[in-house]
Amino acid sequence: MTADIIDGKAFAARVRETVAADVSKLKDKHQITPGLAVVIVGHDPASEVYVRNKVKQTAEVGMNSFHHTLDASTDQATLLAKVAELNADPAVHGILVQLPLPKQIDEASVINAINPEKDVDGFHVVNSGLLATGGDAMVPCTPLGCIMMLKDTLGDLSGMRAIVVGRSNIVGKPMAQLLLDENCTVTIAHSRTQDLASEVARADIVVAAVGRPEMVQGEWIKPGATVIDVGINRIPAPERGEGKHRLVGDVAFKAASERANAITPVPGGVGPMTIACLLRNTVTAACRQKGIDLS
Ligand code: NDP
Repeated sequence: MTADIIDGKAFAARVRETVAADVSKLKDKHQITPGLAVVIVGHDPASEVYVRNKVKQTAEVGMNSFHHTLDASTDQATLLAKVAELNADPAVHGILVQLPLPKQIDEASVINAINPEKDVDGFHVVNSGLLATGGDAMVPCTPLGCIMMLKDTLGDLSGMRAIVVGRSNIVGKPMAQLLLDENCTVTIAHSRTQDLASEVARADIVVAAVGRPEMVQGEWIKPGATVIDVGINRIPAPERGEGKHRLVGDVAFKAASERANAITPVPGGVGPMTIACLLRNTVTAACRQKGIDLS
């Protein structure tokens, strides 16, 4: 068996088209231009690339983009003041504070200072609580992208056995919640899980969000399962020349694609969907704040 490749790049392009159409409607019918503010503290090169991409794509779908770069030595009070300013700004419908933050700043305090209605990353405790209790949450972008790709690939997920490897607040836990909401029987695995291979082997759906290169072995995958690889790991690639690197996921892609029914590649799978879902969440946030139903 050779798995179908779930093309996250193409899927993300379709999501961006829908977002652009919704932005046009908001402008034409309601005179509202959704605005996304991104705050980055310091000059981490990986974060800067990611933020540049966000800013570019925000403009491409017709939204306003507000980009704030603060010095790496910024203290917590200054960052909280910036968040308060953006909370109060009516042109800003979504606020994203790029993580990780420098160590003098307490991440949870900053995230929970964002107005939950503008929390387009979905990390605020109010949004986690709403997601856990079936309310109208802002859903974290990466798990949102994963569940959209799974539903597009498999249709009804009801009754399927799913495993999420990883239990972080930003990927693993919300992912498990979304699968549960789709009536899957969900296992959450983590670093203390015993016999991960057997747990994975039972699953019709495998979501890997660990941050360890190719840790999930191809032989563990149940024949016909669907695999979503969230991991992004940069590993040395001497075959490409001295000092070169390449990106791999948390799943051993080649061996897994010989057993799975469908699988996301790295890069080109979950990554592009994350930014597309951020744009989608910003439109959702603008609509909720203004009481607009675009459907
Ligand atoms: P975290 O480091 O916060 O969480 C990793 C999780 O993996 C933890 O729950 C940890 O368990 C678990 N884990 C670690 N080792 C093992 C093991 N040997 N067996 C089973 N579980 C293990 O990572 P994130 O959730 O933030 O990110 C995960 C990956 O996803 C990373 O590669 C990251 O780069 C990528 N990512 C990709 C995004 C995208 O847009 N594509 C967005 C966000 C993340 P424990 O809790 O017990 O420590």
